[in-house]
Amino acid sequence: MKVIGHFDTTYHVTGLIDGPQGPREGFFRFYNDLWDEKELGPKPVKDPLELIQRNADGSPLAIKLDGFSPWPIYHGCLNNPNWRKVLKAFVKRGIERGVDGFVINYFYTNGCMCQYCIRGFKDFLRQRHSPAELRQQFGIDNLDTYKFAEINGWYKPNQMTPLRLESQRFSDISRKKAFDEIFEEYGRSLKPDLILAQWLHSYQPMPSNDERFMLPPDLWAKGEDYLWYCVGKNEATLQMRYMRGAGGDRPFSICHYENVKIRASLAELAANGGAPMARYANFNDPASRRESASSGS
Ligand SMILES: [Zn+2]
Repeated sequence: MKVIGHFDTTYHVTGLIDGPQGPREGFFRFYNDLWDEKELGPKPVKDPLELIQRNADGSPLAIKLDGFSPWPIYHGCLNNPNWRKVLKAFVKRGIERGVDGFVINYFYTNGCMCQYCIRGFKDFLRQRHSPAELRQQFGIDNLDTYKFAEINGWYKPNQMTPLRLESQRFSDISRKKAFDEIFEEYGRSLKPDLILAQWLHSYQPMPSNDERFMLPPDLWAKGEDYLWYCVGKNEATLQMRYMRGAGGDRPFSICHYENVKIRASLAELAANGGAPMARYANFNDPASRRESASSGS
């Protein structure tokens, strides 16, 4: 048996940041008061607000999800070298505690406009395009002084422009580079056989939220031992063919929110070469119970 730790890369930064006491509660309380330097090493920065994603006006990017967190949810920025140091400290501690690997999710850059993302996107454009191309394709006359209105983090159906598509490419590639640096390079420098997988999402038939769809083939799932996609309640056949074809012979699983046609869901996943999970089997539902009883499993 192998033990795989679940690792969230951006999403756990909940708490409160306004008020005279400064950042507090949730992640901020952990960072300020509970970070144990004996276990985690020195804090990368003193002020945890330096770690989080930013809106275009520089304010912290926050969302509110009732029932998920009593506080606003902020996000660490994967392009911020100090946030990568925080995640490396967690990787090291997890390995010291004995995990065999990590399944890692929430690679969300959300169109962050922090200094690292803006600089990173400018470097990305500079490496890929001549000044004439930047002018022609994106209307950028002077990249050094150009001010982006946004850096696209999520695919927007029917609203993509050449610049949005290019910044989507940057976002997908930069998230993969963060994964490579933190887990593949650093994690496996500590434990060479560290098992790694990304836990991503793709909701067919419009996979507009697939979190790596702009990756070139040489980066797609590079260094990952198995594949995992959440597919929601959607029909998953095409997604599984895609995973099997793109992933080669690697094992894969899907998280399918299917709690009635359990037998069909498990059989289809196995038939496509994947490993079924039964997380959403609802054995209290009579229809679901009939299906799973007749499956003989
Ligand atoms: Zn950023």
